[in-house]
Amino acid sequence: MSETAATPVLELRELRRSFGGVKAVDGITLSVLAGDVVALIGPNGAGKSTLFALMMGELAASAGEIHLDGRDMRRLSARAHARAGIGRTFQAPRLFAGLSVWENILAALGARTNRSDREGPPPADALGEVGLYERRAELAGSLSQGQRKRLELAMVLALRPRLLLLDEPTAGMGVAERAAVMELVMAAVQWRRLTMVFCEHDMETVFAHADRVVVMDRGAIVADGTPREVREDPHVQSVYLGGGFSHGGAPR
Ligand code: ADP
Ligand code: MG
Repeated sequence: MSETAATPVLELRELRRSFGGVKAVDGITLSVLAGDVVALIGPNGAGKSTLFALMMGELAASAGEIHLDGRDMRRLSARAHARAGIGRTFQAPRLFAGLSVWENILAALGARTNRSDREGPPPADALGEVGLYERRAELAGSLSQGQRKRLELAMVLALRPRLLLLDEPTAGMGVAERAAVMELVMAAVQWRRLTMVFCEHDMETVFAHADRVVVMDRGAIVADGTPREVREDPHVQSVYLGGGFSHGGAPR
């Protein structure tokens, strides 16, 4: 095993977060290695989005630890997480509808200072990668839902993250658009040598692109393995009510 492979990019230890009596994240221990493409799946309310918010420093953990490249990230702001190289998109894209596509990229860049520590492609490249360079002068508010997801992805890529967290990157898309968006996500991951964790409901997308699938249910990890291992896991099949995978059913 090489040295980079042995050092996790992201390490979560016994991470917890409750909202009142709800244990949204209830003792998650997880290591993500450099270059991993990890799909995080699980029914609605399993705690996936809460886990993302914890990994991004947007929410404080009730207990447990988060290490990025071995560095303790507790009590650091979301901005500090972004500076440290984590980038994320939201389940519902967060854009400035009244600004142009290019101005949204600039706004994303403005939200983070001190990027000079990292080399990488210029911000405009990110628009090309998602197919929106020609539309850079248009208002973000005039874009379709799928194009908004692409713009949000470009806004994150422009920040040159090393670890990409995508919360349902294909939500609300049809089959063809879903495939197209995942193609460009995977191209960016390879070209930019990113590590990625993504939440996804569509099992075909998960099994087509993930090296590793982590299944959450009620705040805990109930399975973690290769797509094949997870697909055959009896516990996973019961969580998904009678083997929804083979029927292509989207878990809720
Ligand atoms: P998922 O993304 O897997 O659907 P979430 O992380 O959104 O799951 O939610 C996990 C649980 O935590 C749910 O029971 C949800 O209602 C609860 N929850 C999430 N965010 C909040 C919040 N800000 N306040 C109160 N409860 C929350
Ligand atoms: Mg969610």
